[in-house]
Amino acid sequence: MFDGGGNGWLEIISGPMFAGKSTELIRRLRTLEHTKIDFVLFKPKIDSRYADNDVVTHDNSSMSAKVIDNALDILNFVRNNPNIKVIGIDEGQFFGIELVSVIKELVFQQGKRVIISALLLDYQDNPFGYVPHLLPYANEHIILHAVCSFCNEKLATHTVRISGSEAQIEVGGIDKYKVACNDCWREMKKK
Ligand SMILES: [Zn+2]
Repeated sequence: MFDGGGNGWLEIISGPMFAGKSTELIRRLRTLEHTKIDFVLFKPKIDSRYADNDVVTHDNSSMSAKVIDNALDILNFVRNNPNIKVIGIDEGQFFGIELVSVIKELVFQQGKRVIISALLLDYQDNPFGYVPHLLPYANEHIILHAVCSFCNEKLATHTVRISGSEAQIEVGGIDKYKVACNDCWREMKKK
């Protein structure tokens, strides 16, 4: 697969940090590289330090991406590039509520295939951003898992912030975040 067949198709890739969400998103887009299907990858501008033009994953695969402030920029880009059939969106949790109407427009009105990777839960296990609002519309929802950073054994579903502020959004990698399985998460909450 595939360009969405002009009929619209929505794929959501979720999971905690370090589960390979961006890697999977890039892998899916790479399968189009030898075809004539035009695709584009977007990522949100969340921090000027990270405002380069590549999505770089923890395992160092990368793909060039358009950095945007707002999900509405995706509609503008596609309007100017109508040949685009497949749209990848990384770090979907950082977009505002307009993401929901933008995705519905792309998939249901314009018949695009949209692949979006996102954290669905923040570091306090609360719904993160607006991708959770898109789950009912997904044709495919793949949930990736990481291995627990604490017991190094069980599958992790929780993202844990180990340093930094209490703001919902704080950009970081292994310096600031770990992932936890249910057992380790529960133990941590007791403390
Ligand atoms: Zn564990």
